[in-house]
Amino acid sequence: MDKRLILVKYGEITLKGLNQHYFLETLMKNIRYAIKGIEDAKVSKIQGRITINDVKAEDEAEVISRLKKVFGIVAIVVARECEADMDSIKAVALEIMKDKENCTFKAEAKRGNKAFPYTSPQIAKMVGAHVLVNTETITVDVHNPDYTLTVEVRNKAYVYCDDIPCEAGLPLGTGGSGALLLSGGIDSPVAGYMMNRRGMKICSIHFHSYPYTSLEAQKKATDLAQKLRPYNMGMTLINVSVTKIQEEIIQKCDESYLTVILRRFMFRIAEKICEQRDISALITGESLGQVASQTIESINCTNAVVSLPILRPLIAHDKNEIMALARHIDTYDISIRPFEDCCTVFVPKHPQIKPSLEKVELQESRLDVDALVQEALEGIEIVRIR
Ligand code: ATP
Ligand code: MG
Repeated sequence: MDKRLILVKYGEITLKGLNQHYFLETLMKNIRYAIKGIEDAKVSKIQGRITINDVKAEDEAEVISRLKKVFGIVAIVVARECEADMDSIKAVALEIMKDKENCTFKAEAKRGNKAFPYTSPQIAKMVGAHVLVNTETITVDVHNPDYTLTVEVRNKAYVYCDDIPCEAGLPLGTGGSGALLLSGGIDSPVAGYMMNRRGMKICSIHFHSYPYTSLEAQKKATDLAQKLRPYNMGMTLINVSVTKIQEEIIQKCDESYLTVILRRFMFRIAEKICEQRDISALITGESLGQVASQTIESINCTNAVVSLPILRPLIAHDKNEIMALARHIDTYDISIRPFEDCCTVFVPKHPQIKPSLEKVELQESRLDVDALVQEALEGIEIVRIR
C-alpha cells in the first residue's frame, strides 16, 4: 500500500535550552492528539525533526490539514526516506522531479549526520547535476526556483520538494491557562487564537442577556468556540446571563456609565470563574481606541476590579489586520452574522469615553455588586464543545 512519510519542522522550541525536552514532548503529544483516528500513522522523533510514518496516501490531505492547526510546527513536508548513500539519494531525487516539466529548481542539502562523507554544498551539487542530466525540460534557477529540492542526511536520508508552512508559535499547554471573554464579534476569537499560538490553553466565557439577546446570538458564540476547538485541543464554553445586572444598571445608574459598569461586572465574574477553575489570566479582544469602551481610561476602569493579568493580544492591531486573522481561522463569517450582543442591545446615546474611576465607583455604589456577581455565577451554564 502507498504510504507517506511526513517530516515536522519545529522552530522556536530549539531555543528553549534545558526545557527543550518538555516542549518537544508536549508537541509530540499534541500531534498524536491532532491525528487521532488516522489509521496506521505513527509519530516518532529523529534528530532535529518529528516524523509521522505510514500515512496512507488517502489520509495525506487530512493529516496535513490537522497539523496546520498544531502550534509549535513551523512547516511540514511530505518526504521520501532512503538509505544515506549518494546513489540512493540521487535515485529518489530524480524520481521526485522526473514527472515535472518546463520548470525551474534548485537543490539544497542539510547534513545532520557529520559522518556522511560529503558536505552539504557537495550533496546539493551532485543531486542537482543528476536531476539536470536525466531530465529534459527542467532547468536551474537558484534565485527564484519553482521547486526547492531538499535533501536532509541524518541516519537515513530524506528528500522532498517545498515546505508547507504551518502556524509556528509554541506547543499548546506550555503557556499556562487563560479564560477568553468571547463575544459574538470579530475580535475576541482572534484574541483566543493568538494566545493559543503562544501555548496558552483557554476556556471561553460568553455573556448574554437573554431574552433581550436572541438564542441565535448564543449560537454564534457556540459556533465560534467550535472553530477555536481544534487549535485549543478541546473547548469549554461558559455562558453567563447578565440580564439582571443590565436591568439594575439601567434602573439605578446614569445611562452614560452603562457600558463601563457592565464591563466591570464581566471582569469580576470572569475572575471568579478563573478562581474556581484554577485559570491564571483573562483574555479579551480589545484594541486601543476601537470603541468608547476601549480608550485607555475605560481600560483602566475595568482593570481596577480584578487582580489577574488581563491579556489583550490585539491591543495594537488595526481592524484590517484582525479581520485578516479572523478569515485565516475561519471565524469571520460567523462573527458578521447580524445578531445583537449584550453590549449592543442597550447602548447609551453618549457613552463615557474617558470615564474617571472615582465617578464610576460612585455610580456603582448604588448597586449591590457582590450579590449580583454571586447570582450570575449561580446561573452559569457549562458547555463542552464537540
Ligand atoms: P469583539 O469583536 O470581540 O466583540 P468589540 O470590538 O465588539 O470586540 P467590545 O464589545 O467593546 O468590542 O468588547 C471588547 C472585548 O470585551 C471583546 O473582545 C471581548 O473579549 C469582551 N466582550 C465583549 N462583549 C462580550 C460578551 N458578550 N461576552 C464575552 N466577552 C465579551
Ligand atoms: Mg463586541
